[in-house]
Amino acid sequence: MSARAVTSLTNPTVKAVRALHLRKERDATGLFVAEGLKIVTEAVELGHAPRILMHGREAEGHPLLRRALEATRAAGGEALEVTQDILAKVSRRDNPQAVVGVFAQAFTPLAELKPQSAPCFVALHRVRDPGNLGTIVRTADAAGCGAVILVGECCDPYSVEAVRATMGSIFAVPIVKASEAEFAGWRSGWPGSVVGTLLTASVDHRQAEYVQPALILMGNEQQGLTPEMAALCDVNVKIPMRGRADSLNLSVATGIMIYAATA
Ligand code: SAM
Repeated sequence: MSARAVTSLTNPTVKAVRALHLRKERDATGLFVAEGLKIVTEAVELGHAPRILMHGREAEGHPLLRRALEATRAAGGEALEVTQDILAKVSRRDNPQAVVGVFAQAFTPLAELKPQSAPCFVALHRVRDPGNLGTIVRTADAAGCGAVILVGECCDPYSVEAVRATMGSIFAVPIVKASEAEFAGWRSGWPGSVVGTLLTASVDHRQAEYVQPALILMGNEQQGLTPEMAALCDVNVKIPMRGRADSLNLSVATGIMIYAATA
């Protein structure tokens, strides 16, 4: 069965999907947009059926699209065949992907994390940049981390930019939100090493002990790790820098730390 054809930008479903670019709307609906047949397929394989699936005519007949359409319908979702213009507006891109899915957000409660389920967990304090956050989720997935924990006021992991940067890993890695106080209380029961990252630390990250499960704590792009958060760590480490750069990009530093902790 083919999807219902829609050509108007004023179609209510099209308008609702476009509105998901706003955080306010994502927070109110608990939904988010993921673009591309590869990412939508990844979601379906991991058991996340699209609530809405839009595709251009060029994707019609693709076996992976057929599967995604079946999953959408089986879960009671809505499938639409749309114009290139609609896909461009929904994606805010001149060259949009031919497939766009709308999914339910799935935050994992902090108390549900099982420290022994993975060698490494990542906590990000007040991360601001969606590209950094998405790249970190992707790296955490690649390295087999148990979760990415967002501590304090962070950017939205379900923004279109963050989801794009995860390349599908948003569906594979548990994402947790916690206040600073919740994180501090939870951390006190952590069975492995808690390792913070500080530009002023004297310990080289390669010399630190990473008792697994290791919990790696990363600071904000502008201010770095606050003294309060650094004080929650067993040790704070620095990744050596030889040139003139005064710091590494947050997602690059996180990748180095994750792989050091799981080596
Ligand atoms: N001006 C900030 C500061 O003083 O910390 C720079 C923050 S840096 C761009 C963002 C985060 O990446 C830091 O809080 C830290 O977690 C991590 N980071 C970046 N470079 C690092 C390094 N050489 N060693 C350890 N952590 C680093």
